[in-house]
Amino acid sequence: MKRILVSGGAGFIGSHLCTRLVNEGHDVICLDNFFTGSKDNIKHLMGNHHFEVVRHDVTYPYSAEVDEIYNLACPASPIHYQHDPIQTAKTSVMGAINMLGLAMRLDAKILQASTSEVYGDPIVHPQPEFYWGNVNPVGYRSCYDEGKRCAETLFMDYYRQNQTRIKIIRIFNTYGPRMLPNDGRVVSNFIIQALNNEDITIYGDGKQTRSFQYIDDLIEGMVRMMDTEDDFTGPVNLGNPNEFPVLELAERVIRMTGSTSKIVFKPLPTDDPKQRQPDIKLAKEKLGWQPTVELEDGLKRMIEYFKNV
Ligand code: NAD
Ligand code: UDP
Repeated sequence: MKRILVSGGAGFIGSHLCTRLVNEGHDVICLDNFFTGSKDNIKHLMGNHHFEVVRHDVTYPYSAEVDEIYNLACPASPIHYQHDPIQTAKTSVMGAINMLGLAMRLDAKILQASTSEVYGDPIVHPQPEFYWGNVNPVGYRSCYDEGKRCAETLFMDYYRQNQTRIKIIRIFNTYGPRMLPNDGRVVSNFIIQALNNEDITIYGDGKQTRSFQYIDDLIEGMVRMMDTEDDFTGPVNLGNPNEFPVLELAERVIRMTGSTSKIVFKPLPTDDPKQRQPDIKLAKEKLGWQPTVELEDGLKRMIEYFKNV
């Protein structure tokens, strides 16, 4: 049994991770400022004596005796991370410094939830970890993309300079229960719109692609990454390599929900990446991991979930 800190533990991914870790018998501290997370996401864990919640903003130092830290605190959907871009950059950078400082003092392992956004609008396809990316440093998405890139830099420098026991994962678009219905991300938007028979909003021509991973696959990959030997730091991509144009996703959701929604086309946000697909050779080799949930199956589960929220 380990003592584990999960920053951003009340968010979409964090709440699934906390659940998995508590179910394995670990003592879990969930650290969150509830910007995009909620007590609802973790209500099933409240009262469990292996689980504690602390309201705290990671841009300020925090201290507790733990063996492992998963650093997830950061809004992830474009509308949320662009709401207060300065706070987003501070959360990534100062949050990383505070969590790394704690890991270093405790000699704890620390895993950074990085993102496929470090590849920006990629010109190498699919994206392997050794691709350096194509990121606009001064655009609307930069607070998130560059914040996450700087966090990766800090993780690697703590490893090289202080021998801190770090792990970096780059998460590709992930969906599943407890995504906020109004956070603007494509899978949740399309399902909600389809269930309400409202117009399905495609930004641009819908030819841009994404590769969608179901939450359970991601959590399995995260835990396996934390369990690797200290000399494997990553970064390692965690995503589903099945790539779909956004238009095809819309058509699938309409078919699966039996909706009467029409597809409408809206302007594409600036710097919206045209294509994205993870190269997962490294995860297969080092973690013996690959996604197991097909999009059709994952969407079915998501549709059922959103029918009941
Ligand atoms: P989310 O918004 O649901 O969760 C983020 C959590 O962090 C929330 O509970 C929020 O309240 C908390 N938080 C934000 N700022 C904080 C701060 N300053 N101090 C303390 N807590 C703070 O998003 P998510 O989808 O669960 O993403 C979790 C992590 O995974 C993020 O770091 C995100 O960048 C990364 N990620 C997610 C995806 C995805 O597809 N969901 C893809 C790539 C990377
Ligand atoms: N998108 C869309 N309609 C929506 C929401 C998103 O066409 O209602 C597009 C968005 O422009 C992007 C893709 O879907 O090209 C994925 O968007 P999301 O915000 O989910 O993730 P990200 O852009 O961060 O990968």
